[in-house]
Order: sequence, then C-alpha cells, then structure tokens
Amino acid sequence: MNLNLSNKVILISGGAKGIGGAISRGLITEGAIPVMIDPSEKEGAEILALGEAFQIPIRIFAAADSEKVVQLTLEKYGRIDGLVNNAGANDGVGLENGSPEAFEKSVAKNLNHYYHLAHFALPHLKKAKGSIINISSKTAVTGQGGTSGYTAAKGAQLSLTREWAVELLPYEITVNAIIPAEVFTPLYENWINTFPNPSERLAEITAKIPLGKRMTTPEEIAAMAIFLLSDKAEHITGQHLFVDGGYTHLDRAL
Ligand code: NAP
Repeated sequence: MNLNLSNKVILISGGAKGIGGAISRGLITEGAIPVMIDPSEKEGAEILALGEAFQIPIRIFAAADSEKVVQLTLEKYGRIDGLVNNAGANDGVGLENGSPEAFEKSVAKNLNHYYHLAHFALPHLKKAKGSIINISSKTAVTGQGGTSGYTAAKGAQLSLTREWAVELLPYEITVNAIIPAEVFTPLYENWINTFPNPSERLAEITAKIPLGKRMTTPEEIAAMAIFLLSDKAEHITGQHLFVDGGYTHLDRAL
C-alpha cells in the first residue's frame, strides 16, 4: 500500500525514544520527515543517521516552547503536515500521596503542550489538510491508582481528540487518539524498576495481556500512527484506537 507520505513533515513530541522514536523511524522508512521535539540527543542522532529528519532538542513545557518549535520547523521546511502529541510520563502523583502543587504540575507537564503544539501548528495543518494524533494511555479509562495527575491529563487528551475532531471538520483535519497499555520503552523500564522485583512484576503483567501474553511493541503503536497520518486514513476522525493486545476490553481473568 502506498501511504503517500513522501516529504510530509510531521512534528512528534518525544520523537527520539520509545513510542515516539519508533514513529520517527517508521516515518523515515515511508519517506516522510519527522521533526523530533526531544531533549534526548544521543537517541535523536541515531535517528538522524537514518535519513532526512530534524531534531529540536528541547523539553517543551511553556507555550513559547511550542511556538518556537513551529517557527523552527517552518524556517527549515516551510510546511507542517501532521502532529503527533506523544511526550509524557507517568509520574505517580496520587490523591493520598500527592499534593495540590504536585498535581497541578503533573497535569501541566503531561497535557498543556498537547494544546500548545496543536494551536501553533493549526494554520499550517489547515493548509495541508493534515492530521493530529494524541497518544493517550489505558490509564485514562481503566484507572491505575496513585497517579491522579497523569490520568487526568490522559483523560483530557481523549476529550480533546473528540473536541478538536469536531472543531476541525471544516478544514478536513483528522484528529485521533491512540491508546497504548503495556509497551516496553525506556519509560516503562524505569517504571518497572521502581518495584522491588522488577522481572517478577513484569512477568505478572505480561501474563495478563490477552493477545499472545506479550507486551505491545513500540513499532506496533507506530504502525497505527503512520497509517492515521496517511491519506489512506483521511475518513477516520474523532476515534480512540486501542493498540493493546485486548488489554483494556477483553477479559483479563481468562
Ligand atoms: P519514553 O520511553 O520516556 O519516551 C518519551 C520521550 O519523550 C523521551 O525521549 C523523553 O525524554 C521525551 N520527553 C518527555 N517529556 C518531554 C517533553 N516535555 N518535551 C520533549 N520531550 C519529552 O516514553 P514512552 O513510553 O514512549 O511514552 C510515550 C507516550 O506513550 C507517553 O505519552 C506515555 O504516557 C504513553 N504511554 C506509554 C505506555 C507504555 O507502556 N510505554 C503506555 C501508555 C501510554 P526523557 O527520557 O529525557 O524524559
């Protein structure tokens, strides 16, 4: 299938590692140009060596960071065809073991740049009739316990997916969310290592994943993202797509 992604310029927050890194690599294979917004310079350099790509090595937080990213991308390529909002981290700010200040910071860190990037990229996405993908998390629909800030942000990303899909209908910009559950990435590895017996905990989790009793790979999330960015998916919008081996919806007691 020809995805017609050749020379399309795609912004990806957190685009150098984990799920974002797999999306960047996959886009290069399709002839598209990933713009990685990610401070991880070593991993970014490995992707830059694969083909045409661009790294903006910053950790976005304030609105001005996203405005700058859009400006730098336009100076270099003159267009933006797609946006993958992906950067985030499960930072464990709970209700009992948290504080109002930590909660507000966690929500801001995981949510605000999704809006900022979409806002500043919008005039260019309108010209391209482009697409937006929000990477959310199964925790938005299942809960996890002990992580109020992260889940609040992940739930808001699902709401914004529907909200933006409606608002952007007149411009034929599609907006969809991908919902991963258990994907082995550097972030996941850090999280699993917070348990006293990481390999036993990992085996327990993996045994509960219905399809194949294995984790989803970053490349499997990337495949969905790349399809949604392509013109083959131009009649798909406002959708929440679970790429999770049935983790969220199938009976995990089986
Ligand atoms: P990852 O392995 O940590 O990769 C994310 C990359 O984004 C890292 O290079 C990170 O840099 C960078 N980053 C983080 N915050 C950033 C910011 N504000 N600005 C720019 N770059 C930033 O994470 P991942 O597991 O691929 O997760 C990607 C997304 O998937 C997140 O939204 C996460 O919530 C979601 N997700 C993941 C899983 C899973 O099982 N892995 C499950 C559900 C949802 P540093 O390493 O320097 O922070």
